[in-house]
Amino acid sequence: MDAVLNALMRSAKNETGGLDASPAPAPQKPSREEAEAAVRTLIAWAGDNPEREGLIDTPKRVVRAYEELYKGYATPLENVLDRTFGEIGNFDDMVVVRDIVFYSHCEHHMVPFMGKAHVAYFPVERVVGLSKIARVVDMYARRLQTQEHMTSQIITALDETLKPRGVAILVEAEHMCMAMRGIQKPGASTVTMQFTGVFRDDPQEQVRFMNLIRGARS
Ligand SMILES: [Zn+2]
Repeated sequence: MDAVLNALMRSAKNETGGLDASPAPAPQKPSREEAEAAVRTLIAWAGDNPEREGLIDTPKRVVRAYEELYKGYATPLENVLDRTFGEIGNFDDMVVVRDIVFYSHCEHHMVPFMGKAHVAYFPVERVVGLSKIARVVDMYARRLQTQEHMTSQIITALDETLKPRGVAILVEAEHMCMAMRGIQKPGASTVTMQFTGVFRDDPQEQVRFMNLIRGARS
């Protein structure tokens, strides 16, 4: 593993983000009308006329879109990981779900970052439905996020809920705030990863995880 990845790993490990599956709501949630008025203000700030025909219904659409783009705030983790399955025979090896596509928004500029999450865990007696892992990723992605915090929240949620022998996560994403503004470097990808349990303690398992998510057979 090269130095850049190691540095990223250290920074992800230092993240202290916990299981804030249902963060406290903003002190006073504004009304839909107030939210639409705020969008009109931003349209005018951008330099356009919010009253012109093409924009007149935009605030309504933006507020509806926000309900979908940020629905992760309204999803309790218990509802996502509500069922596990015990009939796994003697299976005790790694379960890998790779290429989980996600769309999120950076909390600094509120512009999208998107990419893929790869998750693996070693089950102990029970497994979780594979689609549930993708839903956990979605639940944390559909919030205002940093990639580092999202990575840490996903692994913490899986670790604390499934209590497996270990969890591994690698997230790779492109940040539109780096592509469209600021340093303007489209195509740069940011990689974060974090390990718990046997993945953290056994470098061989990290290598197997990396090989599996790259498509090689272990
Ligand atoms: Zn940003």
